[in-house]
Amino acid sequence: MPHPIFPLPPISDPSNIQTLGEHIALGVDIRARCTSTGCNHNVPLKLVLLARYLGSRHGARPEHLKPYFYCPDCRSAGLSDENVAFSYYACTAPHTLLNDEGEGADSQRTAA
Ligand SMILES: [Zn+2]
Repeated sequence: MPHPIFPLPPISDPSNIQTLGEHIALGVDIRARCTSTGCNHNVPLKLVLLARYLGSRHGARPEHLKPYFYCPDCRSAGLSDENVAFSYYACTAPHTLLNDEGEGADSQRTAA
């Protein structure tokens, strides 16, 4: 069940953020990447959408997110679902949109 609008948490130590809400509050993006040889399937995570379903206090470390992700190409080829890694980086563009509003809506978008 989706969580309603959630308040962003206070950040006491920016070098030690753990939850989805803390990543959103600081503008840290996460990308999931398949590590199977030759695949390199990767996708940026929609953190606001994830936080709506998992809760803003849900962990955002690899061990917390891994159960929710797999590479569909590799799964259909019979490879393990374990070959997913996560990258953390400062956001550089509008992201984590809940829906695509089309052209001209860019000025309305925020980073989190
Ligand atoms: Zn793959």
